[in-house]
Amino acid sequence: MKKISLLIPVYNEEASLDALYTALVPLLDNTHPALKDRYEWEVMMIDDGSRDNTHAILLRLHLRDPRIRYARLSRNFGKENAMLAGFDRVTGDCMVIMDADLQHPVDTIPEMIAQWEDGWEDVYGRRLSRGKESILRKGLTKVYYSLLNRSTRVDVLPDVGDFRLLDRKAIDAIRGMRESQRYTKGLYCWVGFKKKGVDFVTADRIAGETKMKPGRLLNLALEGITSYTTAPLRFASVAGFIISLASIAYMIYVVCKTLIFGEPIQGFPTLICTILFLGGCQLIALGIIGEYIGKIYNETKQRPAYIVAEESGDSCPDTSDTDNKTTTP
Ligand code: UDP
Ligand code: MG
Repeated sequence: MKKISLLIPVYNEEASLDALYTALVPLLDNTHPALKDRYEWEVMMIDDGSRDNTHAILLRLHLRDPRIRYARLSRNFGKENAMLAGFDRVTGDCMVIMDADLQHPVDTIPEMIAQWEDGWEDVYGRRLSRGKESILRKGLTKVYYSLLNRSTRVDVLPDVGDFRLLDRKAIDAIRGMRESQRYTKGLYCWVGFKKKGVDFVTADRIAGETKMKPGRLLNLALEGITSYTTAPLRFASVAGFIISLASIAYMIYVVCKTLIFGEPIQGFPTLICTILFLGGCQLIALGIIGEYIGKIYNETKQRPAYIVAEESGDSCPDTSDTDNKTTTP
């Protein structure tokens, strides 16, 4: 019997977990009407350093139903790193990643599995609506993806998130990428594999509130650009080149003008504007270079992407990311 893993990163989700479990039971028991076959199921919840009752609830769920497994990270490492902890632990022939807040409808999973059975290796959920999100977030998301995709060869699909089914081959490929500042959405696209979209409507959060506050989203967005493309560096050099050309042209103009008409002491505003403008450009370019150097610095430390404090059962393949360095495919 084929085995399907569900990977669910969980951060302060005490209010959603029981409803999530209830929603998953028809799948786990193979009684969901849309399931065409019977499967062995495993749920891997990664408690990303929750500060509420999440851990106690996970433990209770695990004791009640051993198909629910969990790993508790030693602190909040962020969803991207929590997902890597899950990638390292799931044992299924394929894996479905979903959120704990039931924004990703459980009823879409059988359809994803059917596509996987047809030979697709990365079946991604495509949002038909983005649920209760501010107009600002929707608009910025659109601009962001168009900028990101203009600067890379491998496109990151807009309106596609982490809700997806990955075949074992894709799981192992992504698991092999150990960068600790992760942008998994880019990795799904980078590793390739046969991709197929399945539409779904984002539901509203069942309980609690979003953990992806604007600051975090901005960080993730910058992470996305700097991990996925070096286009900003290219942009800085091209802009520098254009500004230099313009400066040379202006210099020639000023020299000629002075030679022909002489120069009464004037031009202070022009001078100050030029200095400020060039200074600003230099700072921006330095900032962009700094972003990349910061990333190199962080990656050279080779710290683990996450640390596990505790996990359910003894059957787990390993206990911390540091050990994985030797077992990584
Ligand atoms: N999450 C996590 N670590 C974090 C933030 C979020 O594991 O640092 C989980 C969270 O519990 C949820 C999923 O990631 O299962 C998506 O988070 P959320 O629903 O807050 O984001 P949104 O859907 O609003 O983008
Ligand atoms: Mg959510």
